[in-house]
Amino acid sequence: METSTEEMSVAQRLDNIRQRMDAACVRSGRNPADVELIAVSKKKSARTINAAAQAGQRLFGESYVQEFCDKRPEVTAQVSWHFIGALQTNKVKYLRGQVEMIHAVDRFSLAQELNKQWRKLDASIDVLIQVNLAGEQSKAGIAPNQVQQMAEQLATLPHVRLRGLMTLPPYAADPEDVRPWFRQLRELSEQLAALHLPRVSMETLSMGMSHDFEVAIEEGATLVRVGTAIFGEREV
Ligand SMILES: *Cc1c(COP(=O)(O)O)cnc(C)c1O
Repeated sequence: METSTEEMSVAQRLDNIRQRMDAACVRSGRNPADVELIAVSKKKSARTINAAAQAGQRLFGESYVQEFCDKRPEVTAQVSWHFIGALQTNKVKYLRGQVEMIHAVDRFSLAQELNKQWRKLDASIDVLIQVNLAGEQSKAGIAPNQVQQMAEQLATLPHVRLRGLMTLPPYAADPEDVRPWFRQLRELSEQLAALHLPRVSMETLSMGMSHDFEVAIEEGATLVRVGTAIFGEREV
């Protein structure tokens, strides 16, 4: 009984979010196929993830290495994973071959370790640079004026492929107040794309969460990271 209620509510919430994503695309003249939903499943059980997969969700985001490694074997559905959280260099090996993309690359030493681990697979890992647009002390990410240098450094690593930028902007109760940050990330991405750095593509913009993903899509997001609006509040 409990399971079916849970499944139903996750499925309904996913449906609601997909409709809102599509509407945001229509409003801003974008193709809905160019925006993908990451269901942020940190602190949520494998059972809940399986239920979301049953409802058609393909892509999940996790933030904690240990939790991800514990849960992953219990997720029986065919899904893909992005690692979206802060990542300690000594934990990269546990993610090797397990995730499609790393969202929060904020230092070259982390990228070097990613390069080393994915070299063992004779593969490469897609990464995003996390940008700290507002210079907030409490958040990771590199300053906008350092991003080009980081992109040039990442381009030297054969098993790392830079795909774009990610940000966690300052919180604002009104999502309209977050819009300028989203716009700034898109403009930064366009400036970098115009440099045509070898081995660097700037097609991915990871921005927007539960309370502001529609504004993020209007400003160009290609990946939105939505947790609470799908799965409910997290236990802390
Ligand atoms: C937890 C988290 C999210 C999801 O946040 P919600 O407000 O629950 O949608 C998105 N991005 C990152 C980096 C996160 O850590």
